[in-house]
Amino acid sequence: MRFPTHIVTDMIKLQVRNALRRKKRFPFVMMLEPLWTCNLACIGCSVERHTGKLKDRLPVDVCLRAVDDCGAAAVSICGGEPTIYPELDELVDGIIARKRHIYLCTNALLLEKNVFGVIPPHRRLTINVHLDGMRDTHDFVVDRPGVFDTAVEMMREAKRLGYHVITNTTVFKETDIEEIEELFTFLADDIDVDGMLISPGYQYESVEQDIFLTRNDIEAKFKRILQLSRRFRLQSTPMFLEFAAGLREYSCSPWSTVTFTPMGWKGPCYLIQKTHTFDWEEFWNGTDWEYWESRRDPLCQNCKMHSGFEASVVMELRKNPTDMYRMVKWNLAG
Ligand code: SF4
Repeated sequence: MRFPTHIVTDMIKLQVRNALRRKKRFPFVMMLEPLWTCNLACIGCSVERHTGKLKDRLPVDVCLRAVDDCGAAAVSICGGEPTIYPELDELVDGIIARKRHIYLCTNALLLEKNVFGVIPPHRRLTINVHLDGMRDTHDFVVDRPGVFDTAVEMMREAKRLGYHVITNTTVFKETDIEEIEELFTFLADDIDVDGMLISPGYQYESVEQDIFLTRNDIEAKFKRILQLSRRFRLQSTPMFLEFAAGLREYSCSPWSTVTFTPMGWKGPCYLIQKTHTFDWEEFWNGTDWEYWESRRDPLCQNCKMHSGFEASVVMELRKNPTDMYRMVKWNLAG
């Protein structure tokens, strides 16, 4: 199975529960940013994410209340760098106690110091390591030499200790797809990672470098990635990759991936910050979902982020038995 059985069954239960309540929109994944402090300053990252002060972090009880409020089946703990969060063990315990799945999104530099021996492996915990290329490219993107080698060493150790480990790669304008093939081969054959995520980079409002892709760039690069997906254990669904390659269309599902930050719930989506509030009802009922689903806002024009569209893929499956069959086969074949 490409995804562990308990994750698949929990995602199906979430959809059935919401279908029975006749809810058309509901969160699948919560992006939890408990802090905006980072030990790196990657070139594709917005400045507040690596200048945030540790004292401005969210308290654990506020994070857990937000997990309860949104009801998402999976919680992606990101930031900032979540392994710097001093109460990470308490936060992970609280989320697991709520029977949610955790993706710990990390640059891996502090895994040995702050995770191994502190937070034990658990079937509900996946370590998701950011890697944007082989050594030279990745170290350039994160703006520090040696990060690739440390991340690789940490992934090997995490696998040896019994953690579930996946990687997350962002495709930028300069990304060479031959190098992505080399990276996937290395991750699959040398590290034996449990899965690989890939998504087109998209511009945060406060990032100034011109490194992000236009829609045409995305489609050209993802046509090649679609070919690679037949050989590698990618976690991005085949329909999402076809969408990224320009071979099919979806409306956006910004409500499927809700983001909670040191400033509260961020609306309307992971990428665009128009509003912030700590009140879940105000965020959920106050966001014009229909408008953002339509992708007619100028800020949406080049966006093909998995956080907006993977849920659209899932929601459309029930209307298309052929896609449903392909999806089941794809998951079983993993
Ligand atoms: S298309 Fe992209 S930027 Fe627009 S609402 Fe959806 S996820 Fe956000």
